[in-house]
Amino acid sequence: MKNCDIVMDLLPLYADDVCSEESRKEVEEHIKGCTSCKSTLEKLRKNVSISPQKDAEVLKRIKKRLRIEKLVVVLISATVLVFVLLGTLFYLINSDCSMDIERYDIPNNVYVSEVDGMLMLCVKGGASSFDSVYPTFSDTNGNHLTYDKDYDKNSKNGIGYTLKQRKISRFSYVDMGNLYSFAYQVGTVENLKEKNIEKIFYYDDVNNKEFILWESDKND
Ligand SMILES: [Zn+2]
Repeated sequence: MKNCDIVMDLLPLYADDVCSEESRKEVEEHIKGCTSCKSTLEKLRKNVSISPQKDAEVLKRIKKRLRIEKLVVVLISATVLVFVLLGTLFYLINSDCSMDIERYDIPNNVYVSEVDGMLMLCVKGGASSFDSVYPTFSDTNGNHLTYDKDYDKNSKNGIGYTLKQRKISRFSYVDMGNLYSFAYQVGTVENLKEKNIEKIFYYDDVNNKEFILWESDKND
C-alpha cells in the first residue's frame, strides 16, 4: 500500500501523458491491482476530458465579448462620423463667401439712389450678409486700398460695400430676382460731404475690384 502514495503523485502526470516510460509502466502495473488508485485516475481523466469543453465555453465567451466590443467600436465610429458630417454641414450652411462683381452681376443688382438727400444702398435679389469698408480710399490709378487709420484725406475717400452669400447656394438667396431686396441707409449727402467721402462703391474682395455706385462729383 506504500506504493499508493507514489502512484497518487504520478497519476496527474500519467493522466496528462507526460510521465516517463518507467513511471507509466509502474502506474499501469499498480492500478491493475488497486481500485482506489484506478478510480482516482478515472476522476482525473474525466476532468481532463472536460477541459476541452471548458475551453470551448471560454472561447465562446471571448468571441461574444469581442463581438460586443466590435459593435461598440462601430457605434462610436458611426456617432463620430454623424457629428463630423453635421459639423461640416453646419459650417457650410453658415459660412459666407463674397459675391464677386461678375458672377452676381453687381452692376445690375446693386445701386445707390438718393431719396430726399438720403443715400440708400439698394440690393435687388438677396445676400446673406454684407460688410462695409468705411472709410476707404483709392490710389491715383483708382485701385481700391483697404482701410487704414491714416488714410489720405486728400485722396478720393469712399465707403465700400461687399455682399456675402452662403457657400452652399441652396441655403442662400442667390437668386438676384426681385423677390427679395433691401435698402440700407448710407447717410445724407451733407453728412458724406462733411466726412470728405466722395464715393460709394461695391468692393469685390475676391478679385480686389471696385464698382462705383455713386460719386459726389457727378451727383452734385
Ligand atoms: Zn494504489
